[in-house]
Amino acid sequence: MQRFQYYIDGEFLDGEARFQSIDPATGDVWAEMPEAREADVDRAVDAAEKALYEGPWAKMTATQRGKLLYRLADLVAANARKLAELETRDTGKIIRETSAQIAYVADYYRYYAGIADKIEGSYLPIDKPDMDVWLRREPVGVVAMVVPWNSQLFLSAVKIGPALAAGCTMVVKASEDGPGPLLEFARLVHEAGFPAGVVNIITGFGPSCGAVLGGHPKVAHIAFTGGPETARHVIRNSAENLASTSLELGGKSPFIVFADADLESAANAQVAGIFAATGQSCVAGSRLIVEASVKDAFLSILKRKAEAIRIGSPLDMATEVGPLATKRQQDHVTALLDKSIASGARLITGGQKPDGVGYYFPPTILDCDGVNSPSLAEEFFGPVLSVVSFESEAEALRLANDTRYGLASGVFTQNLTRAHRLMKGIRAGVVWVNTYRAVSPIAPFGGFGLSGHGREGGLAAALDYTRTKTIWLRTSDDPIPDPFVMR
Ligand code: NAD
Repeated sequence: MQRFQYYIDGEFLDGEARFQSIDPATGDVWAEMPEAREADVDRAVDAAEKALYEGPWAKMTATQRGKLLYRLADLVAANARKLAELETRDTGKIIRETSAQIAYVADYYRYYAGIADKIEGSYLPIDKPDMDVWLRREPVGVVAMVVPWNSQLFLSAVKIGPALAAGCTMVVKASEDGPGPLLEFARLVHEAGFPAGVVNIITGFGPSCGAVLGGHPKVAHIAFTGGPETARHVIRNSAENLASTSLELGGKSPFIVFADADLESAANAQVAGIFAATGQSCVAGSRLIVEASVKDAFLSILKRKAEAIRIGSPLDMATEVGPLATKRQQDHVTALLDKSIASGARLITGGQKPDGVGYYFPPTILDCDGVNSPSLAEEFFGPVLSVVSFESEAEALRLANDTRYGLASGVFTQNLTRAHRLMKGIRAGVVWVNTYRAVSPIAPFGGFGLSGHGREGGLAAALDYTRTKTIWLRTSDDPIPDPFVMR
């Protein structure tokens, strides 16, 4: 059985407590993980604080930080295959996706390597003749990063990259489900030469590790990705240290198809949008909103494509849909589907949990027209698509915005002016037009409403890991005049 260690203050440690990790494709235990509890969290945060103010990191120039980030990017690229296999083994995400995604993770680190020495302060045109005033941009402090099980290397890169560029130090908590790849990534951080304590990577459970970390008095910012319910705990924890938060949460994203769209192309995007990553994607286009006149035609293309999807071992390059990450997730998808069918939603394809080992669930499509189905409101985080139809553009927009989430959205139409109206009207942090699920280190990403706040990606994300300090310098040699008058 493979054994993993966590990484605190530049050392790889076993931890006092350990827990087992399960291979979702078989349901068998395959690895043993170190479980961080309060004392380990304290050690990690202390190490991060020391590195922030005292160690070599504190004295490094931004350009030197950038060079370390470039080295890390190269190491991620060189080890992409190994990391991908680990992530596939530990979470069930198919190797086809993990290998492409992790190769791209290297580009995220490269992007932030370049940003490191472009984070500038500013000089203020102050309204007093004998003063020079400017803003320094300094690292925000020790950052707690908490990520969920899906795409942990990617979801941590969008936090670690900008935070390192800004000069922060950090404690990263991998999810208790599938932490292997992130713990292994710690070895690359070490090899890249980051000073001890700059990046600490642990794993453990929500209440005994994530909550302790988020509420720790030395933590200045919490970067969290996960579900809205856990995010509420994160905010409550931050009432202790008054840390700022950035929250990347779930979604119930609309995927709108107009009759004039290229239906074949839209269907491919919809398949990617809902069945990729076995639906365990925050941006899953889980609500198809299709123009009534093409509903039957579009659903028949989608059904054909969904039924042709190859389900199998996630380690096989030919597999297109692998298992869900956990039994808990499989049970949740099954229960929400049953509830939706009981409410009147009609099964078009899928729905049957297959016999045999592993936490598999087939691509599933539900016709929800005229039904108040819970599947239209609640996140499956699984391969289940809910379909409704519309007659007019106004109705399409109303249906798209009929959610408390606001992460992503897709619009498929050849009509340029309509596309522009919808871009403005849709209440979501990302609008994809005639495409879906495209991401880049250069483009900010994040949600509205229950999908959270704060943005990841882009230059602004690095600035979010800084705080400004206002410097006042009096340039006059004359004695300070009347001390009782504020000037
Ligand atoms: P989750 O909220 O259950 O767990 C996320 C992380 O929070 C885990 O590491 C967990 O240990 C930790 N945690 C649990 N309780 C905690 C507490 N009290 N204090 C601090 N940390 C705690 O999420 P999940 O079920 O692992 O992941 C699925 C969710 O993540 C979905 O809602 C999905 O949409 C969302 N997600 C969002 C994005 C995005 O970028 N917007 C990306 C991926 C996933």
